[in-house]
Amino acid sequence: MRLRNVAGSREAIALSPYVVQEAQQPRCPGAWKEIFGNHRPIHLEIGMGKGKFIHTMAREHPHINYVGVEKYSSVLLRAVQRMEKEELENLKFLRMDAENLLSVFGPGEVDRIYLNFSDPWPKDRHAGRRLPSREFLKRYDVILKPEGVLEFKTDNRSLFEFALGELEPAGWKLEAVTFDLHGDPGMMEGNVTTEYEEKFSAMGNPICKYVISR
Ligand code: SAH
Repeated sequence: MRLRNVAGSREAIALSPYVVQEAQQPRCPGAWKEIFGNHRPIHLEIGMGKGKFIHTMAREHPHINYVGVEKYSSVLLRAVQRMEKEELENLKFLRMDAENLLSVFGPGEVDRIYLNFSDPWPKDRHAGRRLPSREFLKRYDVILKPEGVLEFKTDNRSLFEFALGELEPAGWKLEAVTFDLHGDPGMMEGNVTTEYEEKFSAMGNPICKYVISR
């Protein structure tokens, strides 16, 4: 996501009722049912950007609670503004680095995880920062229910191949995979496009997707 520092974004986020504030985050592990006020499943998008995907998902699936994680205030602000236009009670946001997920979610508290168009971090020495890396899979392993799945979409073929290679060493297995999501009617069923997915598929890039479990 292009980083443009939007003036006042930090302040706007600090006041937003849709954001679980940093000061509340230490009380979050094990408390998500209370935060949402119900016992519905919790689905997480990590690196949600401006929030088109998660907002659409939350509208289409009112019986699922969604949490969007985004590192940058200036990007998260766009998702907050989308909520101001169309409020959904089953969607909350966290402004945080996903490296710290374990300080916000308890073991097995999450039912499903989405990674969409994660940053590629092309340098080898930054491999551990890639959201589908084995380092991150270890974190997801803690917070995701044993029967939970993780879905990853990207148009970046080398990131996708890296992600596939991380599965076995980290103890995960493929449930489904495609190198051309938009040409695969089975895997397209119920597909909700993300901002990046629209942009890159309009440029003619095929979209790769996997669904994994343990
Ligand atoms: N999912 C959106 C945005 C993709 S761009 C879409 O598909 O359109 C990747 C996003 O992930 C950026 O907004 C970036 O700020 C965020 N991000 C990258 N690393 C992150 C991390 N460690 N923790 C939280 N967010 C992260």
